[in-house]
Amino acid sequence: MAIERTLSIIKPDATKRNLTGKINAKFEEAGLRIVAQKRIKLTLEQAGKFYEVHKERPFYGELCEFMTSEPVVVQVLEGEGAIKKNREVMGATNPAEAADGTIRKEFALSVGENSVHGSDAPETAAVEIAFFFSGLELVG
Ligand code: ADP
Ligand code: MG
Repeated sequence: MAIERTLSIIKPDATKRNLTGKINAKFEEAGLRIVAQKRIKLTLEQAGKFYEVHKERPFYGELCEFMTSEPVVVQVLEGEGAIKKNREVMGATNPAEAADGTIRKEFALSVGENSVHGSDAPETAAVEIAFFFSGLELVG
């Protein structure tokens, strides 16, 4: 399988509870390498743009407000089949449905405050990485 990169976000519910290191350990244990990472506070405009694909969904406003409520850690994860592997380590969107050992099963508070974001396909990964990182911030 090819080496891929994917965009990950450690969400406000997790940064607030000081879980960044525990979540990063899950990525590293799964063979994902953190090749870029920064802690930022999103504006409502940035959160709205990032989640634009969900703008017709009923939870869009709540989701954007939540994403601006505390700092987030945005990161690029690299590895074999990184996009799918990251989704597996994250677990299902709703923590009540997430498998044992996944980040969302262990740490998420609710379907909305679910601790992590991960790109869902190569096309979205490329767009989402470029949303947060410049080429200069991405070394091999
Ligand atoms: P995922 O993050 O697993 O790819 P989606 O792309 O479907 O899930 O949704 C994006 C984010 O929107 C979720 O991670 C979660 O924070 C929020 N969300 C999804 N469904 C709901 C819901 N029913 N109620 C509140 N928030 C939701
Ligand atoms: Mg999604």
